Amino acid sequence: MSLSSVPTSPASPSADLRGVPVVPGVRYGPVIRPGRSVQVDELPSEPDLDESNRAAEVGRFSAAAAAVAERLRERAAHASGAASEVLGATAMLAQDRAWLGAAEKRINQGAPATRATIEAVAQFADLFTQMGGLMAERVTDLHDIRDRVLAELSGLPEPGVPVPDVPSILCAHDLAPADTAGLDPSLVVGLATALGGPTSHTAIIARQLGIPCVVAVAGLDDVAAGVQILVDGTRGTVTVEPDPAQARAAVQRSDETAAATANWSGPGATSDGHPVTILANVQDAAAAWAARDVPAEGVGLFRTEFCFLNRDTEPTVEEQAGVYGEVLEAFAGRRVVIRTLDAGSDKPLKFARQVEEENPALGVRGIRIAEANPELLTRQLEAIAVAAERTGNTPWVMAPMIATAQEAGAFAEQVRAHGLTPGVMIEVPAAALLADQILAQVDFLSIGTNDLAQYTMAADRMSSELATLTDPWQPAVLMLVDMAARAGMKAGKRVGVCGEAAADPLLACVLAGLGVSSLSAAAAAVRAVGAKVASVTAQQCREAAQAVLAAASAGEARAAAHAVLE
Ligand code: PEP
Ligand code: MG
Repeated sequence: MSLSSVPTSPASPSADLRGVPVVPGVRYGPVIRPGRSVQVDELPSEPDLDESNRAAEVGRFSAAAAAVAERLRERAAHASGAASEVLGATAMLAQDRAWLGAAEKRINQGAPATRATIEAVAQFADLFTQMGGLMAERVTDLHDIRDRVLAELSGLPEPGVPVPDVPSILCAHDLAPADTAGLDPSLVVGLATALGGPTSHTAIIARQLGIPCVVAVAGLDDVAAGVQILVDGTRGTVTVEPDPAQARAAVQRSDETAAATANWSGPGATSDGHPVTILANVQDAAAAWAARDVPAEGVGLFRTEFCFLNRDTEPTVEEQAGVYGEVLEAFAGRRVVIRTLDAGSDKPLKFARQVEEENPALGVRGIRIAEANPELLTRQLEAIAVAAERTGNTPWVMAPMIATAQEAGAFAEQVRAHGLTPGVMIEVPAAALLADQILAQVDFLSIGTNDLAQYTMAADRMSSELATLTDPWQPAVLMLVDMAARAGMKAGKRVGVCGEAAADPLLACVLAGLGVSSLSAAAAAVRAVGAKVASVTAQQCREAAQAVLAAASAGEARAAAHAVLE
């Protein structure tokens, strides 16, 4: 696409739009926007088909769906890693018998293929939405498939991202995973969306491709293609028509920071030597071995439920011991914090025998499962103890979703009985408020800012529309982190952070300033976090912490920390 042919923006010069930062880095360039999808409500209404034409229409529909799936499969074959998986999964959904069958049934009853496509997708989108959690996230994929099939049926070009002539910044209301997955990072150098949350597919792929990215940007839809913008994936801003010289200087500064980051080799400490342990989050043995490539001092969160998400039956003690042992071996001689199964809500485990609930995020999840099924926890602790014995690396063990000191006490007793070190996660506001009492029961705390933000702000962490509320920079969330950190300092016990907040280099410094003693982040974020902490003094961290606690909004908190730490 030629960028000289696109309209210019009506937006005011140098307007700063605010969003949620997802992938750090600063990029400057012209905006490109995805091709317009067929507008479902603008399609002309078509009469029912004669019986004699229905079989041919079914054939036309099947061919269109097959063509869409084939193109997605081809793109999957040319992509790698998560991008390939996302494209492959979307291709499979395009050929899913359930919705294809529902559309064919409608055509056989007289509906033209376009109407049948729209209605069948709407039926499944409603179903997925009702199921909630990860299924609800797939509604974007379903709508993407619908738009591609409608374009195919109407003889229009497939909707999607244009290939720009010059390095450009892709802006969109929302992006289908299939669009993001096929991006060429040398041509699409920045990303910004009006919707999308920090855990959305857009965010996951942007992280993998290393494309600076901001999501949930208010006002982005008013910025037209062709306009020059500056995307700051560290601060979470989009500047429309900035001063070109200043924009280029900002990009250069960010690139210099990235280069310094690549050389950080640990251990974690501020520039004046105050230690801040930097750990990695892992979800299985493969991730643990991969995390050894970064200078993490250990594992701060091993999400054990991820090892067994696709299992119908509970893994045996021996099988579990094998999996846990591999992670302990990968980090032999270093700290490993194992979290007991955090089943429920968006991570259902079939073998945990969970019942249907109206509101699973507030239901029987995490440690609450042990109430009805105590053996599940006992067997897991037994397996961890076996793995510890075999590897000679005795892990710390923590429970998710603790809400009371009694729960913490009962858990600690069991963990100690297995010769292990007990701790709990602080993910529920009640637990942060009771941190003193809880610390009287356990040896350490680990703050899960993802859930803590969800429960503090009463905002579903999976919702893209509520991403500004689930932002861990929300002062209310940071006040609870402050309470837990203070309790730790008073008791002389360690309090870490293992939610996504610890992966944000600027916020990591704030957390250290609040008194958090360790930061555990995705392996990909470890160097950036370690390098940033190493670039500031402990006093700067404390000043930034005080400044964010006095802020009135997440945006103000970010700006205040930026002023002290950048
Ligand atoms: C958290 O809630 O911050 C956390 C680390 O746990 P998870 O993201 O697995 O719920
Ligand atoms: Mg959690």
